Amino acid sequence: MRRSIRAIAVALVIAIILPAAALAHWPVANRYAYISQSYWSKHRAVDIATYKGTPIVPMRSGKVVFAGHKRNCGGYQVWVSHGNGLYSAYYHVKRRSINVWRGKYVKRQTTRLARVGESGCATGPHLHFEVWRGFPWASGSYRVNPWKYIDSGYWLPYRYR
Ligand SMILES: [Zn+2]
Repeated sequence: MRRSIRAIAVALVIAIILPAAALAHWPVANRYAYISQSYWSKHRAVDIATYKGTPIVPMRSGKVVFAGHKRNCGGYQVWVSHGNGLYSAYYHVKRRSINVWRGKYVKRQTTRLARVGESGCATGPHLHFEVWRGFPWASGSYRVNPWKYIDSGYWLPYRYR
């Protein structure tokens, strides 16, 4: 009995916790970056401040579902689908720096989506980075703390490792 409970617990850990925490990459290619605003109830994203022009890379591989400008304060932005209803979104990117298009397959850590900028309502160069459960901004979708997904990355600043 005990043993079967333990087996179920192990199976649950593998089925639930592992996929949620499975390796997502720090999304900016510059170690001179820091989190200028964390995730909280009035800001369901992390802001990563770094130099303007720094390449932005996807946290995981996936397919671009939106690339362009929106009047939602985010300015120029890229949204990526990672499958299983998980999406990531990258905002305030530099104008004309978007390097991908809807339908393009992008590779974790490798494909340059765009460059850090301050388009939209940004007051300085930073990446506003969101992770969504469900298609971004669709009804029933919600944002989760991106930090829970970032657990690796060549460019992850030393202080976060
Ligand atoms: Zn922000």
